[in-house]
Amino acid sequence: MFLRYVLGVRGRFSKYIVRGLVVHVAFRELVHSLKRVLYRDCVRCGVELLEALKREGHAVFSRVFEDPIYSSVDAREVETLFWEVWRRGMTIYSGAFDRYIRNANVDVKYLDSIVRMVVPLDVEFRIDGSRLGLSNVRVDALLFPCIPVEIKVGEGVKPELALAGYALALESVIRRPVNYGIVVNVEFRSDLSLSWRVKTVHIDDDLRLEFLHERDKRADIVDKKIDPGVAPSCPTTCPYYDYCHGRVSEEKRASRERKAQERPSKKLKVRVLKK
Ligand code: SF4
Repeated sequence: MFLRYVLGVRGRFSKYIVRGLVVHVAFRELVHSLKRVLYRDCVRCGVELLEALKREGHAVFSRVFEDPIYSSVDAREVETLFWEVWRRGMTIYSGAFDRYIRNANVDVKYLDSIVRMVVPLDVEFRIDGSRLGLSNVRVDALLFPCIPVEIKVGEGVKPELALAGYALALESVIRRPVNYGIVVNVEFRSDLSLSWRVKTVHIDDDLRLEFLHERDKRADIVDKKIDPGVAPSCPTTCPYYDYCHGRVSEEKRASRERKAQERPSKKLKVRVLKK
C-alpha cells in the first residue's frame, strides 16, 4: 500500500506475476466460453461440448494474449499455460455435462438448469464493497449459491483474509451470513503442467476481525503516510522486490519519498487484500 499509493512505485511484472495472470485469464475466458457455447449451440453431449470449446480456445487465445503485458514471459510458455488450463477445463466440464444430462435425465432445452449445474460459478464477480469502505471488490469466482473462491497462484497475502473481505462485502449486500469460502492453490511443475489443491475455509468472527483490522491498518498507511518498513521475509516474486531490497538507487528513492511527503495525503478506499 505504502509503495503503491503513497510513493507511487510501479511494481514490475515478473514472470511469476504474468504466469498467475495467464491462469486467471484463461480460467475466466474458459468459463465465459463454456456458458456462451451452452446457451448458443445447444450441444447434446460432452463430445460436442469438447469440440466447441476447442474451437473457442483458439479464438480466445489469439484475441486475449496479444497484449504486451505478457511479453515478460516466453510466448511459448504463455501458450503452454493457457492450453494447460483450457484442456483441463474442457475435460472436467464436458464430463460434468454428460453426468448431469444422464443422471438428472434433463432435456437439452433446459438451458438455465444445464448452465447452472454444469458450471455452477461466476468468474471475476464484482461486489459492492462501499459499506465497508472497500473499492474494486472482485472475487475470482463466486460459487453457487454464494461461496467466494480465491484462486492463488504463488506466494502472497494470506488468501483466507481476502475471503473474509469478500464474505463481509457479500454480507453487506445480501444481508445473510457467508460462513465458508474456498481457496484453490495452483502450482506449476517444471514442465509447466498444473496441479491444484482445494481448501475449504471457515470464515469465523476472528477471521472477519483480522480482515477489518488489516483494512484499517492499510487505510492508515495511506492516509497518514506511515512507512511500515521492509517485511521480515519477502518472496523474490514480489513486484516491489527490487525497490525494497536496494536495487533502486538511493537518490531515486529519496526523491520519491520527498515528493510523497509534499503531496497532500489522500483518503483511499482499500481494496481487498490481494497484494
Ligand atoms: S519486497 Fe517485501 S517489503 Fe517490499 S513490498 Fe514486497 S513483501 Fe513488502
